[in-house]
Order: sequence, then structure tokens, then C-alpha cells
Amino acid sequence: MKKIIIAIDGYSSSGKSTMARDLARRIGYVYVDSGAMYRAVTLYALRHGMAADGKVDESALIAALPEIGISFQPAGADGVQHTLLNGEDVEREIRTMEVSNLVSPVAVIPEVRHRLVALQREFGNERGIVMDGRDIGTTVFPDAEMKVFVDASPEVRAERRVKELREKGENVDYAAVLANVKERDYIDSHRKESPLTQAEDAVVLNNDNMTIPEQMEWLLDLFKKRSC
Ligand code: C5P
Repeated sequence: MKKIIIAIDGYSSSGKSTMARDLARRIGYVYVDSGAMYRAVTLYALRHGMAADGKVDESALIAALPEIGISFQPAGADGVQHTLLNGEDVEREIRTMEVSNLVSPVAVIPEVRHRLVALQREFGNERGIVMDGRDIGTTVFPDAEMKVFVDASPEVRAERRVKELREKGENVDYAAVLANVKERDYIDSHRKESPLTQAEDAVVLNNDNMTIPEQMEWLLDLFKKRSC
């Protein structure tokens, strides 16, 4: 079996990160959550006073890019890979609503994208990787052997996100989360630089009515076909 690149793209809260992570673990591949990288840059901007009223000070953030180091710590006892911002574990902080509300405006900045895409390509140098995001199959790895585009309705995605945030102790309101999901969909699919679109050679997975084991079976089936 040859080592391949697996690109999993789709809308926010479509469950792609969980499925990408579980798939990587099952097949012994490295998992990279590209959204976490945009979230870490956003957290940096917030912490350094580069954001106010949902707007980002683009030139300050661009000037600070060389100072922003992003890496991952392999999954520990909790089974979750942790995102590091300049060596500090920020996995929890990057998932808050404050970061979610600002991440799409940060992700439209071309200089931010160029820097993160270069880093993402380095992770894929040796193949054997599962990466999830918005532009992995179209821009980061257009030559990926397996491309999946995950789709689910905004309502189902908002429900999942509310459940996840409440489990983490964040007190959130369904309407606010649904609005954030829809707003991110809009910004992500209308931006100039590598917008969220389905790659021509991607296979669509609509998981509105699928259980997690059913999704895994579907992914493993496709993986077998693409890696032989
Ligand atoms: O996947 P997640 O929802 O954590 O991603 C957070 C945000 O990062 C997205 O809403 C999108 O704006 C941005 N993103 C991106 N390109 C990627 C991954 C994420 O623009 N490859």
C-alpha cells in the first residue's frame, strides 16, 4: 500500500476534524487540523490588541507573522492533538466563541494564508497525512490522492457545536452559534483567496443522517480504493 495524502474539506462544524483525526488514528497517519492554525493566529491577534469590534488590524498582524510559531503536540492521554502557539498549549483557548467570531476575517488575509499554506505543505512532505480544512484539496494539496468534501445543514452543524461547547463548560446560545456558523460559511466561500469550494475530484460526504461508525466505514472504503 502506498502512502497517500488525504484532504478533508467542508463547512465549519461539519464534523470533519473528528472524522479526520479518527481516520488518521485508524490507518496510522499523521493528522493536521489546519483550522487550528488559523485559530492560533487569531488568538495571537486578540492577545496583542490587534482586534476590536470584530475587525482585525491587518497591517499589524502581517508585520507580526514572523513572530507567530505554530506547532502540534501529538495526542496525549485525552487522545486529542494539542495546538501550540509559540510553544504554549492553546488548544482550549482557540476553540472559544471569541476566537470563532474573528477567525474568518483573519483567514481572508492573503499573507496569513500564504504563510500557513507553506507550513501545511511542509507537514505533507512525506505523505501519510490526513489534513482537514477549507482549501486542502483545492490549494494546499491539489495532488492529494483522496479528497473528501463534507457537507451537513447549518442547523445540524450548529446543534453539534452547541453540544461540544456546552460539554466544555462554555455557556452558549443556539441562535448565536447558528449565526456564527452561517456567517463563517458566507465569508469562507466568498473570499478572494482560495475560497471554500469543492474540488472537482472530491467525493461528497453528507453526514446529516450518518452515525460516526457509518462515516468511518465510508472513509475506510474510499481509503482502500485510493491507496492500493
Ligand atoms: O475548521 P475550523 O472551523 O476550526 O476553522 C476555523 C476557520 O479557519 C474557518 O472558519 C475558516 O475561516 C478558516 N480556515 C481556512 N482554511 C482552512 C482551515 C480553516 O480559511 N484550511
